[in-house]
Amino acid sequence: MSYLNNIDHPALSGSLNPPVPADDITNFSPGPTSLPKAVEEMIAAGFGKPGLTSLALSHRSPEFLEIFNHAVASVRKVMNIPENYEVLFTHGGGHGQFAAVPLNLCHEASDVATYVVNGTWSQRGADEGKRYCRVQTIDARDTKTGAYNSFPELTEETIDPDSKYVYLCSNETVNGIELHRLPKLPEARKHIPLVVDASSDFSTKPIDWIDSGIGVLFACASKNIGHPGVTVTVIRKDLLGKDKASPLCPGVFNYTTNSEAGNLWNTPATFNIEVIGHMMDWIAAEGGIDEIERRSIAKAKAIYDVIDGSEGFYDSPVTDKTFRSRMNVPFRIAGGDEELTNRFLIQSWDNGLIGLRTLTPFGIGEYLRASLYTGVALEGAEKLAAFMRDFARENS
Ligand code: PMP
Repeated sequence: MSYLNNIDHPALSGSLNPPVPADDITNFSPGPTSLPKAVEEMIAAGFGKPGLTSLALSHRSPEFLEIFNHAVASVRKVMNIPENYEVLFTHGGGHGQFAAVPLNLCHEASDVATYVVNGTWSQRGADEGKRYCRVQTIDARDTKTGAYNSFPELTEETIDPDSKYVYLCSNETVNGIELHRLPKLPEARKHIPLVVDASSDFSTKPIDWIDSGIGVLFACASKNIGHPGVTVTVIRKDLLGKDKASPLCPGVFNYTTNSEAGNLWNTPATFNIEVIGHMMDWIAAEGGIDEIERRSIAKAKAIYDVIDGSEGFYDSPVTDKTFRSRMNVPFRIAGGDEELTNRFLIQSWDNGLIGLRTLTPFGIGEYLRASLYTGVALEGAEKLAAFMRDFARENS
């Protein structure tokens, strides 16, 4: 049977609902995606407590304020966020922060900001930033291949000393490029706050807030910590202040306005905030952020070992192994062979391994991608690794 004749197969149009028992499904979607099973069960059970849940509670009720304060405290504790940082639950997702960052940190549209562009999301952040400030980019594209596959060294020469901030994405979700630790700005640029889009790696490794010079860090929830509709945005308090933001900054995006209103300037995403609190509790109970990092390393190793041991049957676009993402592992089958790729997608779907090809705003390429967020257990990654090994043996 030709798999090319099977283009109507649901696996090829990105279906996430294979006819197998729910317990046999592992979701490798790039987000939104599954949370750890225990957290999903807790949510389904009404968060395991009597009375109204955040789905029905007024955001100003004492019951919700307790949930809210707990979520803030648990994010702080798990991620070791120092007191001189404000934690906000913001609206508008990662894209909202692409605009909110320049609108809060640049008072004038003529202010300069430096963006490291090493993949699709940092490119998107820079493009949005250009509407509100003067963006200078450090482009990390491989000059020979035109591809993004690493992260550049940050030097005095490449960073304008007047930059209001230096922006980077710590995990490029589409390209599969991750900074396992944040880089330090050169000594003569240490006065510039670092802005980090940690949407797809937040809460999977420790962050050294002070030493890394973080000014703002944001993470949309729908990968490792919850559901779309809320974003964790952490801001160093000296960047807040009445006249800091652009006068054009909408109130809903204004860090100072929201901080002064106790994050209740308007209705926050109540249910999603409660979920984040539970995710953080789950992380703490599992052994904290170091344990999550240990698991992330083990899951990624299971897949990269198969790729590297496949004698070219599978390949990774990230040539510099030090930047290979633990969160998103793009891989190609037999140089992008369409029939084999379709066969792989159908057979893996039939086996409950789903989300390996989803649509992105950047289209569908030759690469599939296994996203190994915190909701994917080590056994799930090992199941995929075993499937990949068998598939290569049967089809090489
Ligand atoms: N940044 C990164 C690194 C992402 O992976 C994504 C979403 N995939 C975004 C930003 C955009 O987030 P949102 O869809 O919540 O706007």
